Amino acid sequence: MSKLRSDTRGAKEIIGTIRLKENSRRIKPKKLDVAIIGAGISGLCSALLLERLGCNVIVFEKDKYIKSEGAGIQITSNGLFVLKKLDLDRPVVEAGLKPNKLCLIDESDLKSIGCLEIRHRLKRRYGKSFITLHRSLLVKILFEKVREKKIRVNFGSRALPLVKKDHENIYISYKGKKIEKDLIVVADGVGSSWKSTIFRENKTRNITQSAYRFVLSNKNLPPIFSENNINLFFGKGRHFVTYPTGKNGMINFVFCKRESGHTVNHWKEKVAKQKFLNDFELNEILKPYIPDVKKIYRWPVIESGIPVTIQKKNVVMVGDAAHGMLPYMAQGANKALEDSFELANCVKEFPLDLKKGLIKYSKKRIKRIYQLDRVSRFNEKVYHLEQKVFRKGLFLFLRCITSLFPNFFFKRLDWIYRYKG
Ligand SMILES: Cc1cc2nc3c(=O)[nH]c(=O)nc-3n(C[C@H](O)[C@H](O)[C@H](O)COP(=O)(O)OP(=O)(O)OC[C@H]3O[C@@H](n4cnc5c(N)ncnc54)[C@H](O)[C@@H]3O)c2cc1C
Repeated sequence: MSKLRSDTRGAKEIIGTIRLKENSRRIKPKKLDVAIIGAGISGLCSALLLERLGCNVIVFEKDKYIKSEGAGIQITSNGLFVLKKLDLDRPVVEAGLKPNKLCLIDESDLKSIGCLEIRHRLKRRYGKSFITLHRSLLVKILFEKVREKKIRVNFGSRALPLVKKDHENIYISYKGKKIEKDLIVVADGVGSSWKSTIFRENKTRNITQSAYRFVLSNKNLPPIFSENNINLFFGKGRHFVTYPTGKNGMINFVFCKRESGHTVNHWKEKVAKQKFLNDFELNEILKPYIPDVKKIYRWPVIESGIPVTIQKKNVVMVGDAAHGMLPYMAQGANKALEDSFELANCVKEFPLDLKKGLIKYSKKRIKRIYQLDRVSRFNEKVYHLEQKVFRKGLFLFLRCITSLFPNFFFKRLDWIYRYKG
């Protein structure tokens, strides 16, 4: 039985003893009152894990309902490890697909550089294969569990920070009211208004990338795209990735390239097909399929840099609010799940001193964010080589590795995928 489960089942309710604001005297022990800002992956997962600890949880979500926007995401063994703690690994595995291979392809002629069997290799190495699925399926699975647990979710409620000078805690401003909570978990995504108000010392790096994203039915697509594989295409100063988004027969396409100037910062910038074609100068083989695409979104690639802290007073950040990084390790959702798990563990570890638990959470996560960020930035450079001669060198290297030392690829990433908290 998992560590968290066995620990939490025994003690049905972790009692949070809250220090009195003025003089640190303890008040009568009571359940920890927690507000979660945002019902995305990190918010819903945090709500579930904290509710399991016996906390009183309420979620504020600015949208009126759970939206089905988005495209494909990848859930790797570290994310599945967290989902297993909530008994949600099975529904996620069932909703998604386990890709058979990781195929590396030269975009100029769509010729294979090398292919790695991943489905069985990853299962052997990490106990779990990678899963690809539509983001909305994961959110739906988490939300159904939140409903089952009767955790309150206030939809249509934008919750903002309220900072009062010299007060020990930070409050929530909601519909003109001041709401006080023992713990506020900020899970409001990349454009976090909480971060920009409370965590100003966390500097944002310049955004130098943009990504186009769409899904296409696998019907009629050439086999290279429609097979159950993750394809990584290397081009000049750009790359693109395709993979299935689950059992619905849709294939996720993400095109990334370096960009100068303005890039968007939300999920809804719909782009005309022609603009995408002009901007990305697509390979002739793929061009004829673009008329079948319903919507193309330009996707923000936000790099918020390594945060100094993700905890202040009674507030912590999780998921993209805490740290937006280049998505070239496909760890956005997995990082969010890990954050929630780590937060619940730290809250549990210090039942008599919440702040200590929150500080530990912040330190632990920043260390890992730093390491993940390094790998993502390294991948960005490799994926976007401008010079042909360097690309040819890279392809030769990848050809040798995939055929002679296929395990090398994953060995250097064991510390990510073997995460156990
Ligand atoms: C609509 C949408 C589509 C996405 N599609 C993809 C995708 O296709 N592929 C991919 O890899 N990643 C996608 N992402 C990002 C991905 O979900 C995240 O990288 C990762 O899962 C971490 O999620 P998160 O919970 O930290 O943040 P998010 O998933 O961004 O969730 C943040 C939530 O907070 C809510 N919120 C924001 N401000 C407030 C406020 N003041 N008060 C209350 N609620 C607030 C938002 O409405 C949102 O529901 C998408 C995110 C969103 C919001």
